[in-house]
Amino acid sequence: MSDIEVRTRLAPSPTGDPHVGTAYQALFSYVWARKNSGKFVLRIEDTDRERSSPASETAIIESLRWLGLDWDEGPDVGGPYGPYRQSERLDIYQDHVQLLVAEGHAYPCFCSRERLAELRNERQRSGAGSGYDRKCRDIPPEEAGRRIDAGEEFTVRMKVPLAGRCEFTDLLRGKIEKDWESIDDQVIMKADGYPTYHLAVVVDDHLMRISHIIRGEEWINSVPKHVLLYEFFGWETPVFCHLPLLRNKDKSKLSKRKNPVSIDWYRRTGILPEALLNFIGMMGWHLSDDREKFSVSDMIESFRLEDISLGGPVFDLDKLQWLNGKYIREDFTTDRLLDRLVDWGLNRDHFREILEICRGRMTSLSDWGDLTAHFFTEKLEYSRDQLLIKDMDGTETCRILQIILWELERMEGFTKDDIYTTFRELSEKLDMKMKLFTAPLYIAMSGKSVSTPLFDTMAILGSDVTRMRIKAAMEELGGLSGKQLEKLERSYALKDGEE
Ligand code: GLU
Repeated sequence: MSDIEVRTRLAPSPTGDPHVGTAYQALFSYVWARKNSGKFVLRIEDTDRERSSPASETAIIESLRWLGLDWDEGPDVGGPYGPYRQSERLDIYQDHVQLLVAEGHAYPCFCSRERLAELRNERQRSGAGSGYDRKCRDIPPEEAGRRIDAGEEFTVRMKVPLAGRCEFTDLLRGKIEKDWESIDDQVIMKADGYPTYHLAVVVDDHLMRISHIIRGEEWINSVPKHVLLYEFFGWETPVFCHLPLLRNKDKSKLSKRKNPVSIDWYRRTGILPEALLNFIGMMGWHLSDDREKFSVSDMIESFRLEDISLGGPVFDLDKLQWLNGKYIREDFTTDRLLDRLVDWGLNRDHFREILEICRGRMTSLSDWGDLTAHFFTEKLEYSRDQLLIKDMDGTETCRILQIILWELERMEGFTKDDIYTTFRELSEKLDMKMKLFTAPLYIAMSGKSVSTPLFDTMAILGSDVTRMRIKAAMEELGGLSGKQLEKLERSYALKDGEE
């Protein structure tokens, strides 16, 4: 390396559950910074005002800490280049956007949402792509200024070259070229004065002196726009290193339809953070002696970015389970394992919550094991027939369970009351008595038709585990085909729209 300090970053958007993809980018960025005695920065990208939430930010930070990763700068620890939350940096983005407009690299766009939607439809119909027609690109600056002063709403777009090619280098892929013609005049500032991802990421990576951008392959198509912004500002580009996409076992892109993707699910189902990090470290990388069990320190010692291989790494849960078992057996004394177990599920707070809802059915202290077993295992045993809703077959039951899943996915809070409200609404939407469609859920959650109260149980298990258990039940029932799912999606969206 040259004498430039290595500074890497993780830039999650707090818009949902902490994702294993975030842990993947975090681990590789963290290891590279530590390897080079550099700095690892956490930046929260919360410019999507509708979808961002402080709860999601807290959950992301907690799950990264649970994994054992730490950062040198970030919203919770401060640092010389803060603030590290984008919503607190709006002035900085405004200044940079104004600079681009003043220098003729960007322009205010007054096109209404309606016009843009119409344009999109028209273009799609004629097969001309969905791009913006650059109507506002040539409005003279004086006229634009007058319209802004008169209070007209506007966004700001960057001026993408009309011809020629963009060239940039990805550390793992070498030179990448793209025709400018295929790239839209991207919006860089929204009508509410918030920057878009493209502008904010470039400004922040520069001002925070990031030397290496290590992130998922899904961002590679954004790089031309970013490179152009670097050029407009006269800044040097950092090193780009796009990690290979994580894949499901069938090689499709890792998705929550096929795999649990929330870090929380792994934590709650008893995966050790050391094992999860080790497993994530195996995604596209391996030790030179091919040893599969290694620690983050081992990784730091021998890691080189250029050794990452691009063959799609598979998120194979069997492998993770195998590795987790190895850690449990080889790395823990019984006493340390006991400490972990207590921290994980037998701590006073957690166990108290569970006891509270099952004590009413206890006749002896020894009943606790049987009454609470479903909180401590994912290996529930039940038969397909137990899951069927009264008078329905497997497919019909799956349809209902799928709708329940969608509704649970949309929920923000997951307390007992939140769940009750969702189910009451569902009962109206489905025009079905709640008792009918909650019956299979008792089985799916606990393996038994009589068990701890359903909504309390789900709240204690948490959203991720609850949803995975419903998915497991659907699988037991034979599931829905792609076609059936599509059809259901359409009819349910329609019904939803009617309200
Ligand atoms: N906020 C983006 C995300 O949610 C960051 C992408 C990047 O690393 O540039 O992943």
